[in-house]
Amino acid sequence: MPKYSSEPSRDLGQPPVPAALQTVLAMIGSGEASSRALIARVTGLARSTVSQQVDALIALGIVEEQVISESVRGRPPRRLSISPGAGTIAVVDVDATATQVAIADLSGAVVARGIVRMPVDRGPEELLGAVVDEIRSMLAAHELDPCRVRQVVAGLPAPVDFQRGRVVRPPIMPGWDGYAVGDHLREAFKAPVVVDNDVNLMALGVAAQEQTDTPLLFVKVAAGIGAGIVTDDGVVLRGADGAAGDIGHIRTSVRRDVVCQCGKLDCLESVASYRAVLAALGIDSAPTDDPRHASRELARLIADSDAQALFRIRQAATDLGEVIAMLIHTLNPRTLVLGGPLSELHDEVLSGVRAAVYERALPLATRKLTITTSQLGADAGIAGAVVVATREVFSAEGMAQLLSAPRG
Ligand SMILES: [Zn+2]
Repeated sequence: MPKYSSEPSRDLGQPPVPAALQTVLAMIGSGEASSRALIARVTGLARSTVSQQVDALIALGIVEEQVISESVRGRPPRRLSISPGAGTIAVVDVDATATQVAIADLSGAVVARGIVRMPVDRGPEELLGAVVDEIRSMLAAHELDPCRVRQVVAGLPAPVDFQRGRVVRPPIMPGWDGYAVGDHLREAFKAPVVVDNDVNLMALGVAAQEQTDTPLLFVKVAAGIGAGIVTDDGVVLRGADGAAGDIGHIRTSVRRDVVCQCGKLDCLESVASYRAVLAALGIDSAPTDDPRHASRELARLIADSDAQALFRIRQAATDLGEVIAMLIHTLNPRTLVLGGPLSELHDEVLSGVRAAVYERALPLATRKLTITTSQLGADAGIAGAVVVATREVFSAEGMAQLLSAPRG
């Protein structure tokens, strides 16, 4: 079972791809093997069979073969790779105040990045409209054919019905409930779309790019709070309905009677999120001309050893640590990575969470546990979306689509 199963609306009408062609394309697409000889060795296919498939892929314009050095005798060594003209993937990472977008080639190398500064509460039509415009202008700037977008992946800071590509009762995204994000993007790019919770994508991005030991528990502390879990097999643990890791609305143990945006009292998100900390300190988190205003303001207070700021940060870290300790007992991860602006900007958060986890969790679960922050920072979501997109493109169905796609 592939991690990202295909969407119900995907066209399944393509003829099946011959097994050898599929194997060879998957090897080159994943970067596992980059020469005819190596593909033959790894797959056990005959050299002549491999060569036949490679020639067919080159003729289709999907693969290219470049001479990498001149050799004195015999055939010079060549490297196989996915042709930049074979297509593009487009990825989107929606956040409360700004949405990142990127385009990449099919091997996952990012070609261009962009940002759409618009709060999510403008609603899906307006935000996704701006996202589509931004991606189209990036494609145009790099002379990439918009008809050759092969896969779109979007991450949203909300519970996502993964199978249908819809947002389900998002606490911080008014106007998005039930909106068919997948259909909107599919219509715009005429390409398959995967929509996922942003934290799942970030967890995958961290696992892939930072090569952390798994199981990985990734916790994002931003306007909302969420967790993503990557298993030993590199798979996101999403539970029966895709709600696994939705920890922002777990009730904290200290009673403060803070009303959360979800309508309940004392949710983790209402007391320990970046937004909650900023609000408690009277820092305006609404986007202004200066997108770094809030983080700079908070950093200044911490640097000045402002008692209120230190107290709020430490309290948030303790509340987070308490919930994370429960997760560590449930999941026994090898690595815990904290992401999002609150944990990335302030060591106090990392040390506070660490202290709470070690105080509450039993030694067997913490003995080999690494607790750290993400080096990818705000790029984790985009990195994970690219991982998902390339896996989709080189899945059996994705390859069938790629091989049958019109080109010329
Ligand atoms: Zn809540």
